[in-house]
Formats: sequence, structure tokens, C-alpha cells
Amino acid sequence: MRIARVEAGGQPAWAIIEGDVVYRLEGSPFDNPRRGDRIGDLGLAKLLAPCQPTKVVCIGLNYRAHAAETGQELPKEPLMFLKPPTSVIGPGDEVVWAPDSKKIDYEAELAVVFKKRAKHVPAGAYKEYVLGYTCANDISARDFQRGDGQWARAKGSDTFCPIGPWIETDVDPNDLRISGKLDGEIKQDSRTSDLVFNLDFQVSHLTKYFTMEPGDVLITGTPAGIGDMPVGSEYEVTIEGIGSLKNRMTK
Ligand code: MG
Repeated sequence: MRIARVEAGGQPAWAIIEGDVVYRLEGSPFDNPRRGDRIGDLGLAKLLAPCQPTKVVCIGLNYRAHAAETGQELPKEPLMFLKPPTSVIGPGDEVVWAPDSKKIDYEAELAVVFKKRAKHVPAGAYKEYVLGYTCANDISARDFQRGDGQWARAKGSDTFCPIGPWIETDVDPNDLRISGKLDGEIKQDSRTSDLVFNLDFQVSHLTKYFTMEPGDVLITGTPAGIGDMPVGSEYEVTIEGIGSLKNRMTK
């Protein structure tokens, strides 16, 4: 099932997408969602960020080749940081350049959306807590990341967390092709099977420290090939079995 949020009659609405048709979602997206009335064609729908997280927990340096390209050792345990709800935008929304930054990069990532409160999730149990998967772009101001001592504005500035286009509930996330294109040119191309810390370990580790609420998001690290996302450029994250997320950088 593909769960989305769309603008319908000027209001945000939960939706289910089947083929090229958008239907209203009946009940809760987090508990036995059902298909309701037809809203319209997917091609005409304004898709919103597919959930409204209270926080986004992010994992850094989680693909071997990416750690190598940044000249850093692989972490011994997952490196975690946060993005605030105000950083989240949806498919087609514009990323806004952070004032005073000289260098902002794209990072294609697999995103995990939680469906129920998760704390101290034991090994082997993460799928019970996960609604599904979507694409993310972990927008990163590299000069702030290097200079600030922590990553709040480098990674958490407004619009720095595009997610979407929808939440795919029926996909095995552990060996999917993940790729990224800058203005149509392929820059990142890997598989989620190359993650240093797999999803099972990430979820059990992060929920030792953070309570994940329904709609909260985990983004799981980026593969090699990171680089500049200049003003005016568009980055497209594509994950096999899920879909594509496109966003343009503006000043
Ligand atoms: Mg990242």
C-alpha cells in the first residue's frame, strides 16, 4: 500500500495511491488504513510530505564508500543526529539555501516511518513498529557542519529534510537500489544492503535513547557520491520499489 498526504480542497488529507489514482484514506494511517472515495488523478495531485514527524532521527556515515570519500573512519556504533519538524518538506517543494552558507550538498537516503510508539525495540522486532518506507534528501551545509561543532543548522535548517513521495508499506527495505540524480545526471548509485548498520540494529539502538512516535522518521545514511546542490539545481532521489523524490534548490 502507498500512503500519502495530499492537498484536497485546500486542506491536507491522508490518501492511498493505487496506480495513477488517489483515494481518500479512511481510519488512521497508522492503524488499519482503508481505501475511501476517489480524490482524483495522481498526475494532478499536490503531494505533501507523507507524514508530520515530531522529530527526524538521522544516521551519519552509514555506507562504507561514503565514509571513505569523506576521509573518516567507520563509526563503531551508529552516529545519530536530529532534524526538527520545521526542516521537513514534501515532494516538489523548494529547498531554501541557508543564509551565509558557502556549500550545501544533497544526500539520498532511505527513510523509515514509524507507526506506533517505539522504545527499547529488541533486536529482530523493528518491522512491528514500522509503517513503511520513503525517500529522503539529507540536505547538508558542509561549511556549518565542519565549523559549528554540532550540526543543528548544518542539517536542521528550515527545508533541509525533503521526504516523499509516499510511504510504501509493502517492500523489504534491506536490499533496494538507491540512487540520486542532479539535474538528470546520476551522482549516487548504491544498494541498501551496503549499509554498515542495518535497519534492525539502527532501530534497536536509537530507541534506547529516543522514543519514536507514530509518524516519526529515521533516515538511514547516504551512499557515496555526495556533492554540491547549487541554487537552481534539482536533486532526484529514487529508491527501487518506493518511488522518486524531486526538490529544487532556491535562494
Ligand atoms: Mg546523511
